Amino acid sequence: MDILSISGAAYLVAALLFILALAGLSKHETASQGWAYGVAGMSLALVATVLRVIDAGEATSIVVLLSTVAVGAVIGLWRAKVVEMTGMPELIALLHSFVGLAAVLIGWNGHLDAGSEADGIHRAEVLIGVFIGAVTFTGSLVAFLKLSARMKSAPLTLPGKNIFNVGTLVAFVGLTAAYVLEPDLALLIAVTVLALLLGWHLVASIGGGDMPVVVSMLNSYSGWAAAASGFLLENDLLIVTGALVGSSGAYLSYIMCKAMNRSFFSVIAGGFGIEAGPANDHDYGEHREISAGDTADLLLSASSVVITPGYGMAVAQAQYPVAELTRLLREKGVDVRFGIHPVAGRLPGHMNVLLAEAKVPYDIVLEMDEINDDLAETDVVLVIGANDTVNPAAAEDPGSPIAGMPVLRVWEARNVVVFKRSMAAGYAGVQNPLFFRENAQMLFGDAKTRIAEIVGALSKVPT
Ligand code: NDP
Repeated sequence: MDILSISGAAYLVAALLFILALAGLSKHETASQGWAYGVAGMSLALVATVLRVIDAGEATSIVVLLSTVAVGAVIGLWRAKVVEMTGMPELIALLHSFVGLAAVLIGWNGHLDAGSEADGIHRAEVLIGVFIGAVTFTGSLVAFLKLSARMKSAPLTLPGKNIFNVGTLVAFVGLTAAYVLEPDLALLIAVTVLALLLGWHLVASIGGGDMPVVVSMLNSYSGWAAAASGFLLENDLLIVTGALVGSSGAYLSYIMCKAMNRSFFSVIAGGFGIEAGPANDHDYGEHREISAGDTADLLLSASSVVITPGYGMAVAQAQYPVAELTRLLREKGVDVRFGIHPVAGRLPGHMNVLLAEAKVPYDIVLEMDEINDDLAETDVVLVIGANDTVNPAAAEDPGSPIAGMPVLRVWEARNVVVFKRSMAAGYAGVQNPLFFRENAQMLFGDAKTRIAEIVGALSKVPT
């Protein structure tokens, strides 16, 4: 058997391993198995690709391939090792931008390589690959900038933004038709520039609260960009893998849109049809403060407590004292449960991972829909570093930028204690009227320090 057939068979096995990886990753219990399938599939694919290049016998290609794989692997390992859990979404957004850039370069290479020799299908593949790749590239860069707070998370609302989006798509179709007839470099340059602008504009137009959907949507785009490159390079594995990433990312975006009560079309079309909400200049009155000691007393007098963690718990790394607090309260006969919002933190499942890491029992960690109806009967809710996910404006103010997004209805509880460092707004940049409610009190400071103080006070009380 020649190397081409062996590597073709290896590609097929790798594709199957990727499908098994996706299936495994969809459940807690099988996630690490799914991860192992993914690693095995990718290693096999890499080895098969290297063998193909060695078999072709071009020394320069072998050196370029091996050195780029080595450099990429070293940088990848280093970044993955040093990245904080809170920095994960921005790292993922940056990685998506690389896939987009690679698709643009492969498309340009397809043009320069084949020139006017290429047939119509190949020419269309070049422009489609460059278009999807360039949208993914700049879109992911904006997502990276927004997620890492290097750019404001508020949506950009240019006048005539919808006309720009639709106009760019129409221009792309027209330019592609012209390029298929005559592969002129100027047409390729025009499509590249238009797509770069469109990607930037699409993601810049989406507000902070919708970023989780944007990240999974860019994941989907990066898959389609890889599939387009697969067609150009005639690489079946790239086509299959790209389609897997593209369709699973699109499905995840759809599920997230449904969970957040957002229109899927509006989010993928860069906030199409959404107008900006009014400015945050509402006067909600005065807030009240509470100390760690008084919070400990409040907790001791409670029979039911719900903890709703958010991004601030991750920043403060407060999951360990939170787990200790939970243990102490349960020892004292208090019913403690957790309410997890689907987009709490900065990546899907963020809070679940942190709580599992701190060994909080699974059975007291409930989803938002499972706990929301019980909140009105709860004595104390501890909002630990959460903000947008507990904002009553989403449910009560139709003019709010996060209107319609389902939230944890913590304000229905008898008492709410909010752990944060200041009165600053959450990720979506929207003020939170919860902080000014009669039953709510603010416990200012770093969440980890404050919880440790409460744990200290409770430990002194005999069981
Ligand atoms: P938010 O981002 O809305 O708010 C977090 C709060 O934590 C802030 O108000 C901040 O207030 C507080 N905080 C930060 N550091 C500390 C600290 N050390 N100690 C105590 N408090 C702290 O959090 P949520 O989890 O409620 O909402 C998540 C938001 O992120 C949503 O808008 C969601 O759409 C978005 N998002 C979610 C993604 C996902 O996949 N889950 C991905 C991308 C975005 P202060 O500064 O005053 O301390």
